[in-house]
Amino acid sequence: MDLQHWLGRADHAIQEWADTYSPYAPHPSLHVDDERFASAFEALTGRLTKDNYPFFHPHYAGQMLKPPHPAAVVGHLTAMLINPNNHALDGGPATAAMEREAVAQLAAMFGYDTHLGHLTTSGTIANLEALFVARELHPGRGVAYSAEAHYTHGRMCHVLGMKGHPVPTDEGGRMDLDALEDVLRSGDVGTVVLTAGTTGLGAVDPIHRALALRDRYGVRLHVDAAYGGFFTLLAGADGPEGLAPEPWRAISRCDSIVVDPHKHGLQPYGCGAVLFRDPEVGRFYLHDSPYTYFTSTELHLGEISLECSRAGASAAALWLTFRLIPPTPAGLGRVLAAGRRAALRWADLISRSDVLKLYQRPELDIVGYFPAVEPAALSAVDAASARVLTDGMSDRDPVFLSTLKAGREAFAVRHPEITADVEGARILRSVLMKPESEHHVERLHDRVEQLARPR
Ligand SMILES: *Cc1c(COP(=O)(O)O)cnc(C)c1O
Repeated sequence: MDLQHWLGRADHAIQEWADTYSPYAPHPSLHVDDERFASAFEALTGRLTKDNYPFFHPHYAGQMLKPPHPAAVVGHLTAMLINPNNHALDGGPATAAMEREAVAQLAAMFGYDTHLGHLTTSGTIANLEALFVARELHPGRGVAYSAEAHYTHGRMCHVLGMKGHPVPTDEGGRMDLDALEDVLRSGDVGTVVLTAGTTGLGAVDPIHRALALRDRYGVRLHVDAAYGGFFTLLAGADGPEGLAPEPWRAISRCDSIVVDPHKHGLQPYGCGAVLFRDPEVGRFYLHDSPYTYFTSTELHLGEISLECSRAGASAAALWLTFRLIPPTPAGLGRVLAAGRRAALRWADLISRSDVLKLYQRPELDIVGYFPAVEPAALSAVDAASARVLTDGMSDRDPVFLSTLKAGREAFAVRHPEITADVEGARILRSVLMKPESEHHVERLHDRVEQLARPR
């Protein structure tokens, strides 16, 4: 699709609508002449293009960053020209309805048959809301999450005045359920956060095995699928990209879910989502509604969100994107499948390399690896990873990677052959979240091997 064409159409469509109202003159205080605009615009584009990383390019294989789909850009901009606010129905009925529809698609993707949910500005706020509701249901009891969970859980426990209980992980970075059970036996925990795709390396906690613990210890189960949620579209899929379905199918039985459309849902930043299986939890939000109970058909989004103003444009962007690339295996699933195949392919290449070593097998589309070093010690791994990162970026044909700090114990379970001479080491990390990565991993691998070769 031609972005220029559709941005022009967006402006035109909204102007046509505006023209149906009586004419008026814009106020002179808002006037900006073209020449001044041109120079300010030059300054803007100059700064943006001088001081940025090429997130769009297949040779950017670093952090969780990529531009939104053009459909999201057009949806966002078109609605933004009206600028509805989804804090209340009269802030923009059209985008409030779109939000409800897009959220229902997310709930259906996870297999929820009932839900209450809404979009948020971020995964952080979405998790805050889920933990807030959890606290209201289990006052005085804390929250358990894996040691590899996003740092937001520790931070939000602090904000909410709840005690956080980090739980050790296994050799794949997944929560160790025996260790969790030890914590649950104390009776201090009311909520368990399970991560479906850790931010570091995409590990998926054994959600299906945690279900039994909910009944045994009377805890709530919250799934933080901010990064990995959309991978549920690959659960049980044919082909190398297919994921073991059990943890993903179990999500439908958990009490709440967070997913970030601004990570794997092709959206610009400012789009997270929280979903609750039981619509009744709407009662915990302070509101002045005449309703005494909430169902997804009568919810009033402003009354079930901790945030007040929220961009209707985010809902429009997600809604339009889902019309074209729906959250189904044949829609968005194909986008995720390509990134996952890329990660598996790269992991194979690294396994056969004598210059690079695989840190652990990728579960989703994130690859962790490090240069093979002599002597084989953590301090050397750390220095070599840091050097590959900086050399890669400053090269004439640059490659962009990221690093991740791995602790000595985590390293020892995966690579006992590496001497633990220091507390931990940076390893290299590549998030292959663009489907184009699939056609560039060979090249990326060659480039990183070159960079890592001892000189
Ligand atoms: C990114 C992420 C978050 C935080 O979400 P933001 O949208 O960055 O605020 C929380 N949990 C996980 C697992 C994440 O990957």
